[in-house]
Amino acid sequence: MNIFEEIGVEEQVLAAIKDLGFEKPTPVQEKVIPILVGEKPGDVIALAQTGTGKTAAFGLPLIQKTDIANKKIQHLILSPTRELCLQIADDLKDYSKYVKGFTVGAIFGGSSIDLQMKMLKRGVHIISATPGRLVDLINRKKVDLSQVETVVLDEADEMLNMGFKDELEAVLSQTPKNRTTLLFSATMAREVKSIASKYMKDPTEIIIGKKNVSTENVTHLCYMVHARDRYLALKRIVDFHPDVYGIIFCRTRKETQEVSDNLMNDGYNADALHGDLSQAQRDVVMNKFRSKHLSLLVATDVAARGLDVNDLTHVINYNLPDEIDAYTHRSGRTGRAGKKGTSIIIANMKEKQKISTIERQISKKFIHSSVPLGRDICKNQLFHLIDRMEKVEVSDTDINSFLPEINKKLEWLDRDELIKKFVSLEFNRFLDYYKRMPDLTAPAERSKSKKASGSNKDMGMSRFFINIGRKDGVKPTTIIGMINDYTGIRDIEIGEIDILDSFSFFETDESCAEDILEAFKDKTHKKRKIALELAQQAKRSSSRSSSDRNSDSRKRSFGDRGKRPFGDKGKRSFGDKDKRSSGDRDKRSFGDKDKKRTFKKR
Ligand code: ADP
Ligand code: MG
Repeated sequence: MNIFEEIGVEEQVLAAIKDLGFEKPTPVQEKVIPILVGEKPGDVIALAQTGTGKTAAFGLPLIQKTDIANKKIQHLILSPTRELCLQIADDLKDYSKYVKGFTVGAIFGGSSIDLQMKMLKRGVHIISATPGRLVDLINRKKVDLSQVETVVLDEADEMLNMGFKDELEAVLSQTPKNRTTLLFSATMAREVKSIASKYMKDPTEIIIGKKNVSTENVTHLCYMVHARDRYLALKRIVDFHPDVYGIIFCRTRKETQEVSDNLMNDGYNADALHGDLSQAQRDVVMNKFRSKHLSLLVATDVAARGLDVNDLTHVINYNLPDEIDAYTHRSGRTGRAGKKGTSIIIANMKEKQKISTIERQISKKFIHSSVPLGRDICKNQLFHLIDRMEKVEVSDTDINSFLPEINKKLEWLDRDELIKKFVSLEFNRFLDYYKRMPDLTAPAERSKSKKASGSNKDMGMSRFFINIGRKDGVKPTTIIGMINDYTGIRDIEIGEIDILDSFSFFETDESCAEDILEAFKDKTHKKRKIALELAQQAKRSSSRSSSDRNSDSRKRSFGDRGKRPFGDKGKRSFGDKDKRSSGDRDKRSFGDKDKKRTFKKR
């Protein structure tokens, strides 16, 4: 006999969940179902994390207790968001697909209230609702809750967090006193307790052990960016960690391949693993990854399942998984065997809800950070280079014969200058690349992370004074036009432009200051000789917003979309290819492959 049957799940419902592949009840189902199928069930408080199977725990018994002939609402499920509300209704439809005549309806805000009223008028057995819209319908007297037997408060803590306390109380007061009340929550917050003590009778408390709690060794980081900046953010994260050895999770095969192709094109040591590859191809990729000849594996959840690699430094969620559970599996790939690991999500503001759901499941909060800034990346890479230089093995026999000559040539440089020059050799290109890169952290998120407050300074804007103004018919577009025409450069980042009566100020990326000063020499405007000079003080704080508007796309077309400023290939043949198995990774960050690539300072 099926265990579901043993705990009281009936045939029609059983057939449906069999189709869904449920083989045995989850712990919360095992505890809740027997209570609910009883004749007059008592109240229940269940503390359980997301992903533990709560929907079926209350859904299956409620469906089979429904009197199909009675067209009144018999059970009511409240949940905090439109998504959850719809998901619950959909799940219940799945579970009830073999139950003739059974109906479940969703009631939620942001969608036609008329249609919902019509549905209620036709009659529906169970409703899945968000508190706000339901109260609206109650006030319009369009919903009759007088025959409700069961009220389920799903994700009760979240509903209270979202400020639905009054609505919950209003709804509960409309339902019969002798109803059964079920409360599901991830935490037993004070507000949850107070609702429970006010509206529930002798509830049975069920606590479900935490499922898949992420290991203590994993740090969870969140970078909020605009969706269009996802890839750029990924590159920065990888650049910020010269020693990264990790998996980048994508949602689809297509996305996996694209991200991997882009990374490879940009000079990163990455490859893809997904279901469209042959077994042989996958084996090759996996072997390279295991032996650390590959530092970044871009993979789908399915392809990476069961993958057992121990000392990953990072798991990067390029996109959040559709299934919240998958996050736990993903992040569990790092921080193994007593080592520390970091799981990073690149998310956009629209995904906030999903993030808090994940936080509840892993019982940990994400640390919100700003996407590494160019200068921080440069610093990390620089020290990585210095580190490698300290550790590099010197082959005396090969080098010694050249030494006298080299020494003679470099005689005029002291130690400091020598170091500066060697570092600059590797670094100029790199600094150049990042100099103009904007902050990628989504604006709303910026105030949250401390680092971000200094970001404008890092933008480095120069402020110019120009001797023409409103009286001369100057508009912001005049200035932009001049900058573009005179310099012949189209992607100079332009900040604030202040037009005054007889003169004006404007800001540009400071790296272009020289070019601009030079370009404006000997120019005239309406027969007047233009005088351009650097203004005393760059007004830094205001540069972001206007430059965003003016030149976001141009900025991007210059920089991040270009090649990586540091490649891997050249170095390997020259240096110490054979010395360490992890050699590839060490080499990756600095090389001369890119020297051929032009980073024209146009
Ligand atoms: P919760 O509401 O606790 O977050 P859900 O009810 O949404 O969890 O269930 C999470 C996932 O687990 C869903 O995809 C669901 O279909 C699946 N699931 C639920 N119960 C079972 C079961 N007994 N066996 C297998 N999968 C299940
Ligand atoms: Mg749920």
